[in-house]
Amino acid sequence: MDMNLSAGDDAFRADMRAFLAEAVTNDLKDAARKRISLWQDIDSAMEWQRILHAKGWAAPDWPEEYGGTGWTLSQRHIFAQECTRAEAPALIPMSLRMCGPMLIGYGTDAQKAHYLPRILSGEDIWCQGYSEPSAGSDLASLATSAVSDGDDYIVNGAKIWTSYAQYANMMFALVRTSTEGKKQEGISFLLIDMKAPGVTVQPIINIASSHELNHVFFEDVRVPKANRVGDENDGWSVAKYLLEFERFAIGSVELRRNLGRIEALAKLTPVGGAPLTTESGFRLRLARLKIETTAIEISEQRVLANLSAGKRPGPVSSMLKAASSNVLQQVDTLGVEVAGYYAAPFQPEALEPGVNTPPVGPEQAISFVPMYLSNRARTIAGGSAEIQRSIVAKVMLGL
Ligand SMILES: Cc1cc2nc3c(=O)[nH]c(=O)nc-3n(C[C@H](O)[C@H](O)[C@H](O)COP(=O)(O)OP(=O)(O)OC[C@H]3O[C@@H](n4cnc5c(N)ncnc54)[C@H](O)[C@@H]3O)c2cc1C
Repeated sequence: MDMNLSAGDDAFRADMRAFLAEAVTNDLKDAARKRISLWQDIDSAMEWQRILHAKGWAAPDWPEEYGGTGWTLSQRHIFAQECTRAEAPALIPMSLRMCGPMLIGYGTDAQKAHYLPRILSGEDIWCQGYSEPSAGSDLASLATSAVSDGDDYIVNGAKIWTSYAQYANMMFALVRTSTEGKKQEGISFLLIDMKAPGVTVQPIINIASSHELNHVFFEDVRVPKANRVGDENDGWSVAKYLLEFERFAIGSVELRRNLGRIEALAKLTPVGGAPLTTESGFRLRLARLKIETTAIEISEQRVLANLSAGKRPGPVSSMLKAASSNVLQQVDTLGVEVAGYYAAPFQPEALEPGVNTPPVGPEQAISFVPMYLSNRARTIAGGSAEIQRSIVAKVMLGL
């Protein structure tokens, strides 16, 4: 893995910085600062995606032939760093980081030709239909059924915890096409039109009062067989491949962003006449979290190097997912402690993008409690920490 920066990389960084200084408007920055969970608000995320797409930069990690940038590993790293530095909004991962790579790996030529350009442009917004009320960690127990009917399947059942289903026009979903043999062997992978008759979406409001999750119901929903990815009853291989991309979600970028926010607030927080940033206990905790973040960042670079060499992320994505979600929760805890009394006021309106209501306390403090609450779910979303550790034990350590 070559991460040494060249003179060309310095020029690339300067170009990116100049572009971002123009492109990330104050409204986009405001929205990025107010993001409190995995999900950016949809309007800013899609606006930012459109801006990047116009430059051909919406999916730097995709192969160039499908719309990737062809950037080197260090250029991609610089771009991610500079986007964080410029306070650019986050993109929605289900389309660009999950569905796209899955289609590149397993889709038919027709599926790639139809869906990949629409993912890049933001014309299609995808959600993930894996979990069900009785199938989470034990995903292969899923019961949503797809029964063959000529050129179509008829889908019945329900999915739960479906992030951003309220905005999505497409869902990639696991369905049961057979009850014979091992439960993993009767699963197929379908692309479902969320506007098809028989699909209903019900909101689930989380502990931080935000609407990110949903319950999705299917009643006799007709899905063309042309929308199946992979062979019938072989959806489990596709599902696992996609999960490797989902779990490899460059957590270090968010860690750095949140650590930066904490440091900014600590500079404004006096303790015994000096800023908190000079206090040894705080400095020690901050340093430990920065070191953990750097370790995660270097491991992420290793995965990116594998991707550049045409390999899949592999089980290391489970290790990274478990590590980065754990460190994120420690970072959030430090944030709440640094916010102190200002962590107490309940002021959701102050976190609405574009709303100028003055917050109670410093602006830097308002997001810490909602972030702390939302991010409790990070050791569950995408597969719980226990499941990730079991994968590492079994697949990487051979235990
Ligand atoms: C914020 C958020 C967003 C999500 N978004 C989506 C989405 O968009 N699409 C989607 O399909 N799903 C989504 N999910 C669902 C997520 O994938 C599941 O919640 C997760 O896989 C855990 O399943 P479960 O909730 O059924 O918990 P369970 O599987 O019931 O687990 C409960 C507890 O038991 C532990 N446990 C279970 N089995 C084992 C075992 N074998 N060994 C050790 N411990 C075990 C778990 O670690 C957990 O602590 C989301 C979840 C969250 C929190």
